[in-house]
Amino acid sequence: MKKLPPDQQLEVVNSRVTIMPSSKAGGDNYWNTEQMIAQLRNAIKIANFVFPNTVVHWVFDNSSCHDSMPEDALCVTKMNVGAGGKQPKMRDTVIPANNPFGHGGKPQSLCFPDHLPDDHPHKKDEGQPKGMKIILAERGYTAASLGKRLIGDCGQCKARRARKVQPDPNEKHNSDDESAESEGEDESSEPVDCCMRRILSLQDDFAKQKCLLQMVVEEAGHICHFLPKFHPELNAIEYYWGWVKRYFRERTNGNSSHARKLLDEALDACPLPTIRRFFRRARRYLSVYELGATGINAEYAVKKYKSHRGVSQKDLDAAVEEREAKAAALRRL
Ligand SMILES: [Zn+2]
Repeated sequence: MKKLPPDQQLEVVNSRVTIMPSSKAGGDNYWNTEQMIAQLRNAIKIANFVFPNTVVHWVFDNSSCHDSMPEDALCVTKMNVGAGGKQPKMRDTVIPANNPFGHGGKPQSLCFPDHLPDDHPHKKDEGQPKGMKIILAERGYTAASLGKRLIGDCGQCKARRARKVQPDPNEKHNSDDESAESEGEDESSEPVDCCMRRILSLQDDFAKQKCLLQMVVEEAGHICHFLPKFHPELNAIEYYWGWVKRYFRERTNGNSSHARKLLDEALDACPLPTIRRFFRRARRYLSVYELGATGINAEYAVKKYKSHRGVSQKDLDAAVEEREAKAAALRRL
């Protein structure tokens, strides 16, 4: 194969990263956002080369690194009410177009300039973050415009955040309350201006802050998808990991240098048609979920139509009927 001219040659031809994390000297670092972004950038370079002029769909699951925010991200949970103190310096933004006080489209800095006049009320906060109160006031949200005192955090929002961290099984809804069935944390029914943190979190620029992964993928002109939480069956790579682990287990001899070589071998061994099958299986799950099937019926339909890319409503109905008939026959035994 002829070599490409140097300026067209790929700097990387394989984006795979294998780490042996250890706290001992010489051990690799544990996987982190920095390594992940470097790997993604390499993968994008390769994808652009292999599929030129193509919009590539990048699919990620919900693992911990994947939602990392840029350091200067607009993130309301890290902000103070007042200026300065311990809060990150966030990037400049533009006041959202739907601002009800006529400030939409104005650029806004979330920090004070590095130099303020001596008589400026925030002289002591030069270069420091402004905090929620001032940022909201610049957007027109003040006690006067809202007709009530504005507090930083309200009890309701605090309680909701605490529940998100740890659901309280003892919590009982008032049975007289008509809306008692709204068990899920449906924030859309909560007041929108109960406190500063809530108001700011609902501002378009804060609400639409993208995570790093998405920013890097979109900068490259591609599309970024995140799979729903707790659904590994929708992720083709889970099937691939399973295949690789089995290959490895069947051949390992307990020797660590052999294991290192075997790992690379295992990762390369999975045939392309098999990988395509993994994607088809993930897509079958998607299609049965889209038709509303869940649990055991979904499993059954996905297995029954192994050769299909997707499952139609008619196929799903037939699968459900077949499974129920089998279950009924078993009960009669
Ligand atoms: Zn609130």
